[in-house]
Amino acid sequence: SKIGDSGVWGLKKNFALLELLERLQNGPAGQCGTAEEAIGLSGESIIRCDEDEAHVASVYCTVCATHLCADCSQLTHSTKTLAKHRRVPLADKPHEKTMCSQHQVHAIEFVCLEEGCQASPLMCCVCKEYGKHQGHKHSVLEPEANQIRASILDMAHCIRTFTEEISDYSRKLVGIVQHIEGGEQIVEDGVGMAHTEHVPGTAENARSCVRAYFSDLHETLCRQEEMALSVVDAHVREKLIWLRQQQEDMTILLSQVSTACLHCEKTLQQDDCRVVLAKQEITRLLETLQKQQQQFTELADHVQLDASVPVTFTK
Ligand SMILES: [Zn+2]
Ligand SMILES: [Zn+2]
Ligand SMILES: [Zn+2]
Ligand SMILES: [Zn+2]
Repeated sequence: SKIGDSGVWGLKKNFALLELLERLQNGPAGQCGTAEEAIGLSGESIIRCDEDEAHVASVYCTVCATHLCADCSQLTHSTKTLAKHRRVPLADKPHEKTMCSQHQVHAIEFVCLEEGCQASPLMCCVCKEYGKHQGHKHSVLEPEANQIRASILDMAHCIRTFTEEISDYSRKLVGIVQHIEGGEQIVEDGVGMAHTEHVPGTAENARSCVRAYFSDLHETLCRQEEMALSVVDAHVREKLIWLRQQQEDMTILLSQVSTACLHCEKTLQQDDCRVVLAKQEITRLLETLQKQQQQFTELADHVQLDASVPVTFTK
């Protein structure tokens, strides 16, 4: 994934912070920022030999108060008297004593613990016994400083953990975004050829899911449409068949009625004897006509002639 501007800045800041933490946890205490400090090419702080700038100091003579390399330590302390000087590894170099600003011959040895003195808590033995801190609650300088160092280291540890948690969370965010967006992944096929493969993200999967759902819905709707149309077709077909049947029936009825009518007309024109002889036949004919008319009226009353094709949708 690409790293944006803020990402690079964040990375730089992290390196700076980590370097600081390294120095807090591993560096020789009390030597940061002193005049002797120099920054080497590797970024580590190194201390030059006081005898030769080109040498790197490794020991400190507690009597001469000099930083020396092993060779110069030997050379400069070769006489019997000087050889007795206690020399310690640089990491164990004792701190230079700070003198009291009010009693310049006395070194700072104590720390005042009173609430009101926290702005200037350092004191020498004179301050403690006779000066402004007389009778104040106090502790010894070195353990007090060491305690503060320990709490700084604790804090540094907390910061490191916190930084790791933030980085972890950021990595997770990147992962989640990638998971949503998907992308190209290099995979190896059966014959050992590497090629990129598209890995769909969750966004794409969700879109596919929606598409599949609606394509299914489309299919179902099309099927239902066809079914509904076939119901309409069947209804229309049946209605037309019935109407045509009615048309045929009416044609037959009309011809029957006109035949009867014709028969009556013929009978009317015949002589009295024939009219009398035709009485039974005419009566039957009239009965049949009345029956047919009754049936027709019943039918016409009950049937609603209607061209509409009713459509209703059930949900
Ligand atoms: Zn010495
Ligand atoms: Zn040297
Ligand atoms: Zn003092
Ligand atoms: Zn005080």
